[in-house]
Amino acid sequence: MKSILQDKKSGRCYICEQWRGDDSLKAGLEEHHIFYGPYRHASERYGLKVMLCRYHHQGDIHGTADAIHNNPDKTNDQRLKRIAQKAWEKKYTAAAGTEEAHEQFRRIFGKNYL
Ligand SMILES: [Zn+2]
Ligand SMILES: [Zn+2]
Repeated sequence: MKSILQDKKSGRCYICEQWRGDDSLKAGLEEHHIFYGPYRHASERYGLKVMLCRYHHQGDIHGTADAIHNNPDKTNDQRLKRIAQKAWEKKYTAAAGTEEAHEQFRRIFGKNYL
């Protein structure tokens, strides 16, 4: 399923563009499944993925401080997961933002992030 958060072909890193105001085209973008590990398939199924530059994904020569996979469950990862859950509830439930919607999300992704 296509990402429900971003046009994959835009050539931009989601974090650079949305949070850092850097809308320049990035080479070597990598697709990131927002809920990874055991929830990777669910992320794929519901389109919860974004394109990230190497620095924001695994880290690169500029370091790993902001890299999602080097800081699992830290700021960027948590922020992205909250955004993804909100988008998921909006698209796939009838009552986004309610306890019921959070519960539906939790049943699929194992945890409520909101
Ligand atoms: Zn980036
Ligand atoms: Zn990833």
